[in-house]
Amino acid sequence: MSTLEKQIEEKTYKPSDFKSDQEPRWCPGCEDYAIIKAFQTALAELGIPKEKHAVISGIGCAARLPYYMSTYGFHTIHGRPIPIATGVKIANPELSVWVITGDGDGISIGGNHLIHVMRRNVDINILLFDNKVYGLTKGQYSPTSNKGTVNKSAPFGTIEEPAEPVALALASGATFVARTSAAYVKHLTELIKEAHKHKGTSFIHIYQNCYIYNDGVFDDFTRKEVREERNLILEHGKPLIFGKNRDKGLRFKNGRFEIVEFDPKNPPEDLTVHDETNLSLAFALSKLYWPEYPVPMGIFRRVSQPSFEEMLYTQIEKAKERFQTDIAKLLYSGDIWEVR
Ligand code: SF4
Repeated sequence: MSTLEKQIEEKTYKPSDFKSDQEPRWCPGCEDYAIIKAFQTALAELGIPKEKHAVISGIGCAARLPYYMSTYGFHTIHGRPIPIATGVKIANPELSVWVITGDGDGISIGGNHLIHVMRRNVDINILLFDNKVYGLTKGQYSPTSNKGTVNKSAPFGTIEEPAEPVALALASGATFVARTSAAYVKHLTELIKEAHKHKGTSFIHIYQNCYIYNDGVFDDFTRKEVREERNLILEHGKPLIFGKNRDKGLRFKNGRFEIVEFDPKNPPEDLTVHDETNLSLAFALSKLYWPEYPVPMGIFRRVSQPSFEEMLYTQIEKAKERFQTDIAKLLYSGDIWEVR
């Protein structure tokens, strides 16, 4: 490492170091402001130089974010940030690559890419801003809109079941899957740092209120007065306990969760214990939603598997050894025909 590189490495950063000179153009009060605050704070705390980050987005309100970051960035086309981010990571595995997407861009238009990047385990970090509506195009229902949502494109209410991003990520083989709300800035900051540490695809599902077209859609479980009672904070190795007084828990029995109430001084021993490596448990947790159950927040799944670009580079090295980078040898290595 050169002296200059060392100096850069040892520099400490402030969140403002990651701000660009562009004024954010989100609506006043939009929770995208809270997300970018958490993102810039997390990057500063990670202490990695800004030129070692690339932030790639698709289209939508969330997708404006790279303009406001003082890092490398690319505002791409609708639903396609993931293939471009994959290319960036393969071209330069040293870069820390972030995808900023929304429920429309990530689950609908780019849903196919979301599935395949998780199956491949490319080492990129995906932040999905879920406001359950198309904000940029002025309020049509999205794949995650709650059933019965009434808006401009569903005047009599939506009749379809919503997609569940955490369940989709788990079913696609994601090796790091987490969820939080934009209202929980500290929690989001910590999750972003954990996602960065993870080698492989990391996916954070973020509930984000859109004040203009879907205001209050998460209020039932994210308002300050109710969040302790109605959220289940997932902690690896700890029992699934929730409630303001820590007097309720979950027990997984006969393929479903049951809610158990108890004296907090004496919690039952048979409550289910969270295990980030247990895919079946993570999947069952991803299906819980208010008001039947508390809404789980935190890391659902975290397992270690080789990443796509790691395996790709290993394969390239092996191929180079085999053909000793002799192009002529490579060209004449397969079936050859002489055409007369
Ligand atoms: Fe935010 Fe909604 Fe405005 Fe888009 S339309 S910037 S999501 S408040």
